[in-house]
Amino acid sequence: MLCEELLTDCFDREHLWHPYTETLRPLPTYKVKSASGCRITLADGTELIEGMSSWWCALHGYNHPVLNRAVRTQLESMAHVMFGGLTHEPAVALGKLLLSIAPPSMSKIFYADSGSVAVEVAMKMAVQYQAACGQPGRTDFVTIRSGYHGDTWNAMSVCDPVTGMHSLFGPALPARRFVPAPQSRFGGDWDPRDADALRQTVERHADELAALILEPIVQGAGGMRFYHPQFLREAARLCRRHGLLLIFDEIATGFGRTGRLFAWEHAGVEPDIMCVGKALTGGYMTLSAVLATDHVADTISAVAPHVFMHGPTFMANPLACAVARASTELLLASPWQERVGRIEQQLRRELEPARQWPQVADVRVLGAIGVVEMRQPVDMARMQRRFVEEGVWLRPFGKLVYAMPPYVITPDELTRLTTGMLNVIRETTD
Ligand code: PMP
Repeated sequence: MLCEELLTDCFDREHLWHPYTETLRPLPTYKVKSASGCRITLADGTELIEGMSSWWCALHGYNHPVLNRAVRTQLESMAHVMFGGLTHEPAVALGKLLLSIAPPSMSKIFYADSGSVAVEVAMKMAVQYQAACGQPGRTDFVTIRSGYHGDTWNAMSVCDPVTGMHSLFGPALPARRFVPAPQSRFGGDWDPRDADALRQTVERHADELAALILEPIVQGAGGMRFYHPQFLREAARLCRRHGLLLIFDEIATGFGRTGRLFAWEHAGVEPDIMCVGKALTGGYMTLSAVLATDHVADTISAVAPHVFMHGPTFMANPLACAVARASTELLLASPWQERVGRIEQQLRRELEPARQWPQVADVRVLGAIGVVEMRQPVDMARMQRRFVEEGVWLRPFGKLVYAMPPYVITPDELTRLTTGMLNVIRETTD
């Protein structure tokens, strides 16, 4: 049994608001003492195998000597300087590295603070681009259902309208055009009808639409769905034909998680604007980047006010850029493809038995992402406690219990993770 103090740090419970948590009866939080490799150590010494990579970020595990060194070395020269009128080596070096791995059409980089802010930036870029093209009426966006793009205002507006926050914020949110998410699964057959609704919406409303925004291949927090690459090819064709920009949100899918360095590679479709974040810094700190084509950037710059209207205080923070560069170099120098492939095979094999259980609706795996979809929403507090008792760290939501471990997880650790996962799922009957 867990000691009670672990579950309820009093100050935390009284004063700290956790994500998607109420203050009257907050869900328990577990106090972490340290984290190293694929292990999280709680205050009482309990060790948990990390199955979440801290929400898609910590792909090298924790407390990595190379990343620690990158932060320390950068700290010795400067932690931060403003990016307006100044530049620095960490931003330049990271930029070169990002362009070397991004879709070939990407040429300009706008650094931002977080994934949500990157989405805001991308959407603002699209609107400014259309205005610069002489189409100021094109301010709306089309997207697919079951998406998730972040918690800020515009990002929220393109999240799934049912599982997202539309009902709560109602008319305060801009109303976007939603089309059904593709039903053709990744690895399955392509049903051409999947693109019909998008085609109709784009044809009917092109003169109002600045862009199509979506998560390529893997829809994350909106439903953990893996869809057919052909949808992206159809979507790109429609965007080109009707003058919409195509925005790929690769914040969750980037840096190898789906088995390719970026998910666009599954379809060979290049976007006009692409957002990256999360694993960009290997989970060390917050940083995102919005990549754009020369055409988008130069069109915006050619027309008054000639500048892109965004400029965060901590833009291109040198500490974040330095660790992002170190993390990306570390990833590229590692056998990441082999590791992700091995995790994929093992997840497939070890999660498969759950498919037969009556409480389970689906089991799906892509890259280093393993999802067990339940028939009913789970009791998160109970499940979380049981996972901790099993010695694993997983955080389910809705009907979804899923694992996306750091790529450096060993086969033995992964087996312990999937065993803990299945033990708790098996006993879940509600
Ligand atoms: N886009 C996607 C696809 C995401 O998964 C997330 C985060 N879950 C975001 C955007 C928002 O990123 P952040 O939490 O860093 O604001």
